[in-house]
Amino acid sequence: MSSRSIILSDSARAALRDSSSICILTGAGVSAESGVATFRGKEGLWSKFRPEELANIQAFIQNPELVWEWYQYRRDIVTNAQPNPGHVALAQWEKRIAGFTLITQNVDGFHQRAGSRRVIELHGNILRNRCLKCGNIGAGQEVPFKEKVPLCDCGGMLRPDVVWFGEMLPAQALNDAFAAAEAADLFLSIGTSAIVHPAASLPEVAKASGAFLLEINIEPTVLTPMADLFLEGPSGKILPELFDEWMAQRANVE
Ligand SMILES: [Zn+2]
Repeated sequence: MSSRSIILSDSARAALRDSSSICILTGAGVSAESGVATFRGKEGLWSKFRPEELANIQAFIQNPELVWEWYQYRRDIVTNAQPNPGHVALAQWEKRIAGFTLITQNVDGFHQRAGSRRVIELHGNILRNRCLKCGNIGAGQEVPFKEKVPLCDCGGMLRPDVVWFGEMLPAQALNDAFAAAEAADLFLSIGTSAIVHPAASLPEVAKASGAFLLEINIEPTVLTPMADLFLEGPSGKILPELFDEWMAQRANVE
């Protein structure tokens, strides 16, 4: 048995116990613990490019093969990596309470692979395709990149269904995310630097609406001074403990 590393205040325990609407925001740090942080290898072909150079519509129009090859490389990394215990804890948590919304900035689909059913994907999903011409999502889902860019039935080029630099976040996902943040009485910001808006506004909105704000990260962020509780460390270690603590607090009142 490993010992607990998290220490909760009385108010944090009460927030856990009394929460009926939990909202979670996960960011790159959660994926990094599964080994898929930046997709920037230290060597090899792709280390020569910055993500901004490839993850945009101009790059895709100008050189679709190059962009597709990069995404195929990234997909291979994702499919060969595994969700970590933090992903698993969140999936278990969702099964135990109706008021649970998981919002992620990650595109790797780890939450779903860990068992989460309701996931709001703010930046899309790298394993999914979308037709550039007709917009059909899921088109050519199983089409792997070979030598040419895969095409939709309509003849349009398929692109990864992710939000590229310079693109808007999907409106429905964004609306759902802000509604959940507003309704939350417990908000967890996990593994995100809390800098990039609009996602960075979610914890602020939750806090302003009266939620207990709990942050988990390997280092303090700009959000930390606003958090009711900051737990420093890897989410893969802290989340399973926090979920256990939540279960224990609920057991006390049932
Ligand atoms: Zn199409």
